[in-house]
Amino acid sequence: MPVTLRPTIEPEPVNPALLRRDFPIFEDANRDQPLRYLDNAATTHKPRAVIDALTRSYAECYGPIHRGLYPLAEQATSNYESARRTLQHFIGAASPDQLVFTRSTTEAINMVANGWLLPRLQAGDIVWVSRMEHHSNYLPWQRACQQQGAELRIIELAEDGQLDLDGANGLFSERSKLIAISQVSNVLGVENPVAALCATARQHGIPVLVDAAQSVSHIELDVADMGCDFLAFSAHKMFGPTGIGLLYAKAERLAEMAPFQVGGGMVDIVGIGTAPSQWTGIPSRFEAGSPDMPAAVGFAAAAEYLIGLGIGGVRKHIAALTRLAAERLLTIDGVALLPHAELPSSGIVSFTHRDLHPHDIAQIAGESGVAIRAGHHCAQPLLNHLGLAATARASFSVYNDEADIAALVAAIRRAERVFRR
Ligand code: PMP
Repeated sequence: MPVTLRPTIEPEPVNPALLRRDFPIFEDANRDQPLRYLDNAATTHKPRAVIDALTRSYAECYGPIHRGLYPLAEQATSNYESARRTLQHFIGAASPDQLVFTRSTTEAINMVANGWLLPRLQAGDIVWVSRMEHHSNYLPWQRACQQQGAELRIIELAEDGQLDLDGANGLFSERSKLIAISQVSNVLGVENPVAALCATARQHGIPVLVDAAQSVSHIELDVADMGCDFLAFSAHKMFGPTGIGLLYAKAERLAEMAPFQVGGGMVDIVGIGTAPSQWTGIPSRFEAGSPDMPAAVGFAAAAEYLIGLGIGGVRKHIAALTRLAAERLLTIDGVALLPHAELPSSGIVSFTHRDLHPHDIAQIAGESGVAIRAGHHCAQPLLNHLGLAATARASFSVYNDEADIAALVAAIRRAERVFRR
């Protein structure tokens, strides 16, 4: 059996000055000040490799996939399926048939909630999420539980922002039907111990869904190592196109899952009247309608771009930058970081300022060319728990550097002057 050797050499952090040249958005000569883009947790910019892959798909090889019998359509189909295989290798899945293209992380999670959970959820069952989940990994489960009279329980956080797994009574009980958890929180930047959680859940026969929306761009994903049953992420957060995402699932889970949407391309035999129809094979049965081939090709180009950068070096750069940002922000009197055991390193720093509203900080920062996010970050259960209506959030990617952090700190100083502390 072939043995894959993992590199033991310490990766070098990526070089943001070089990488910025890959991203046309940073070239805009009409901009009167440099773009300091620190909203990467919301969405990332696109390297030329991805934009070119999309353009080529439309300009050179566009046609209906899984339908046409002529060469152009066959080539388009082959490109779509080849994109699936690239992403299969990107996440370490055993087979391309375990990958379903979706519109987004949100759609992938809704697919599992409606197609897998709902048909097997009964009154009295429990579904678990954590306090830090994004609404996209909360509301689909809440609705399924409401519909079936099941319970949605919350894994609370310890004071340092980590999951309080010991305090989650009954987490591994027979009544638990699913645990849905993010790998990295989009507000706290906390990285959760998903592999350990999956291992214990597996011993108790409880499936786990991992929301990898915030980890996919800088943490190596290996679904075999992680041991999750389901994994969801979006292309747009990892330099790929908007409007496409992925659901990975273990083969047995996909076999158990009912199609969330029905329509063209997912059926072999259509019943007449109310006679049952026969769905086609997996994964096509979960991709009703005309799939977005160019987006899938762009998605694969984004994965190749990340692989080319080396995810170890990406992670190192982002960790260093996040820690530096946290340190620099803490030098401002009145700034507090959201709970964290140590300085955050997962690309996200959320903070508040004693004298400034997060929206005021974001607006003044925006005027200075610094793009950050302010608000509840689609995580109301967490923000309510922390007694906050909003936070400011800076989030980092491969093209950010120390100058971006300095510009953010300067913008906060400016906001302090504008709002006359
Ligand atoms: N989960 C997390 C942790 C997120 O940060 C996001 C996006 N902010 C989502 C899910 C939803 O992703 P999308 O909007 O691409 O469906």
